[in-house]
Amino acid sequence: MVKIVNAPEGVEGQGFFATSLDKVIGLARANSLWPLPFATSCCGIEFMATMGSTYDLARFGSERMSFSPRQADLLIVAGTISKKLGPVLKQVYDQMAEPKWVISVGACASSGGIFDTYSVLQGIDNIIPVDVYVPGCPPRPEQIIEGIIKIQELAKNESLRRRNSDEYKKMLESYNIETI
Ligand code: SF4
Repeated sequence: MVKIVNAPEGVEGQGFFATSLDKVIGLARANSLWPLPFATSCCGIEFMATMGSTYDLARFGSERMSFSPRQADLLIVAGTISKKLGPVLKQVYDQMAEPKWVISVGACASSGGIFDTYSVLQGIDNIIPVDVYVPGCPPRPEQIIEGIIKIQELAKNESLRRRNSDEYKKMLESYNIETI
């Protein structure tokens, strides 16, 4: 069955429908997220299952994986991130164009998980901002899909001006991320 999204709030009459630009762009963004999977270990396997025919992420308009940061707007970090890998993850994030969102999948990406050791980053939010955390070790595909639905809600309801706001710029500066 083809799922057709509901129209945003607006004014409807015979032969016309009017709404705001924010809502139309939000609707388009939310239903065409292009994920970049940054998968390093077991949680990555759950993400592969999320893409498979049983869970079928294509239903949410996100079947187009991007392994190039410049053609992606949703960074999905799934797995253990070592401190050595941290700068690579940050560079990938830097190379993605705005607007962009981040999901941290699983205990390792979110907090280091069971690896409380000298070599493992204790949460990717030490180096990049995270929009949605998916708990679990590993989380099931249903949980990953739930995380993506949360990102869709953010994308749909975000003002077009949010990313130019002082608050957003300040948040990026706190991560030493240059704003243009
Ligand atoms: S959270 Fe658990 S399943 Fe996911 S990468 Fe870490 S150890 Fe593996």
